Amino acid sequence: MESDELRDDAGGISEWARRVRELRTEEGFLILTHNDRSDLKPRQYVLENSKPQPAFERAISKETRAFVLDRNGVTCQMCGTVAGESQPYDQSRKTQLHIGHIIDKSQGGTDEATNVRAICSVCNEGASNLTLERPSSAKLLAQVRRATGKDQVELLEWLVEKFPKQTATLINDGC
Ligand SMILES: [Zn+2]
Repeated sequence: MESDELRDDAGGISEWARRVRELRTEEGFLILTHNDRSDLKPRQYVLENSKPQPAFERAISKETRAFVLDRNGVTCQMCGTVAGESQPYDQSRKTQLHIGHIIDKSQGGTDEATNVRAICSVCNEGASNLTLERPSSAKLLAQVRRATGKDQVELLEWLVEKFPKQTATLINDGC
């Protein structure tokens, strides 16, 4: 969109530029300019996603986001799915990670890395029905015993990959 069209769309309001800024920073619409994309000319605007970003994500800096995603191993800290994998609670959806507050901002939580974590869109919407509590090993083992052999082997492979040293020690001790 060109700035002239925007001005017309805004009903001839001369403050359209301020409104675009408001939409970006306060309402979370991702409006790109020539500063964001080299194929755009100055005074051209693209609304990349018609859905605004959730308010909680906007206050968190890019650096904090990158740090937290790395710290959390690009894994949802509630259900444990990895970004890009299909969702265990809704197989039709690929996992998209967001950065969410641990203590809500309304309860005095900050935007610092210590108070945020990676969380997938399904958990973020409360759809997975998981509590924040981590499962105990007793509960995990009970679940694993009920799983199919194929799934158990898949789990074993994941564990071996995650804990190579411990795996080697276990194998050596067994011999
Ligand atoms: Zn999740």
